[in-house]
Amino acid sequence: MRATLMYKAGDVRVENVGDASIEQPTDALIRTVRSCICGSDLWPYKDLAPTEGGARMGHEALGVVEDLGSEVSNIKKGDLVIMPFAFSDGACEFCEEGLNTSCLDGGFFGLNSGIGAQAEAIRIPQAEGTLFTVPSTDDGPMLASLLTLSDVMGTGFHAALMAAVEEGDKVAVVGDGAVGLCGVIAAKMLGAEQIIIMGRHPKRVELARDFGATDVVSERGEEAAERVRELTGGHGVHAVLECVGSEQSMLTSMQIVRPGGAVGRVGVPHYQAIPETATTFFHNVTVSGGPAPVRAYIEDLLPSILDGTIDPGRVFDQTIGFDEVPDGYRAMNDRESLKVMIRP
Ligand SMILES: [Zn+2]
Repeated sequence: MRATLMYKAGDVRVENVGDASIEQPTDALIRTVRSCICGSDLWPYKDLAPTEGGARMGHEALGVVEDLGSEVSNIKKGDLVIMPFAFSDGACEFCEEGLNTSCLDGGFFGLNSGIGAQAEAIRIPQAEGTLFTVPSTDDGPMLASLLTLSDVMGTGFHAALMAAVEEGDKVAVVGDGAVGLCGVIAAKMLGAEQIIIMGRHPKRVELARDFGATDVVSERGEEAAERVRELTGGHGVHAVLECVGSEQSMLTSMQIVRPGGAVGRVGVPHYQAIPETATTFFHNVTVSGGPAPVRAYIEDLLPSILDGTIDPGRVFDQTIGFDEVPDGYRAMNDRESLKVMIRP
């Protein structure tokens, strides 16, 4: 089968590898229907040290179940399933609490796991707890929206929950990538009254407005913080969705949150310490977040996708085949593409 490997920063190849197969009785094997490239794949694309044999890439997929281990009974061959970016048993104390990303028998797909979703087939560990069966469809836009439940829509929703978005709130979303745009959708679902998207890419900002953003701040740094304060009566926002993970974006987040407010961070941190900790303390600001337990959110978000209330699949602005995957990475890294979908 073909799979995507990253050998070092900027070096992505699609190669023939051994076919994925069942290894444990708790595994499932899925044939990939859709997968995609994530903004977080761009971090290693910028800085991965040379690796022997290459690292398997990809952690988001929709697939059809082809084979099942002997202990998997809640899904069946032929099911269309969502593969969340982390696998989890669905049974341990953290899964019971809805924190599947801390599963005692779990782990993350992609890069360091040896299992990549940007491939023709995928072995799914802990399949009973990991996979989620959805109604079969060949509707392209619906498949795109279902695919966002693997990561970006669930992650945007997690940012909004961690930022404690409530009815009537003023909200800022830092980052106009796919997660930030899904964060706009989530903030609107939770009843935010004002949603400020912080970004400057014209097409992304336009999509953010379609998703429910009421204001756009395209300034950066101190000017951006000043602009948000102006838009919010001088005090900043109740909730900040930090969807980037850079030191600058975290600094901005801390500067625009209102006393008593919260910052929900879902961008993988590329900073050593949270900036402005004194501000957090004196303003009683909550800082929360982490990898989204997207498996736990599928049930909450799926009905709104199936009935057309939300269409997060619009974040995909390019669809490619396997041969074009290396160029897909380049296009996303150059910000030519917002999010690239792979169709076998
Ligand atoms: Zn668990």
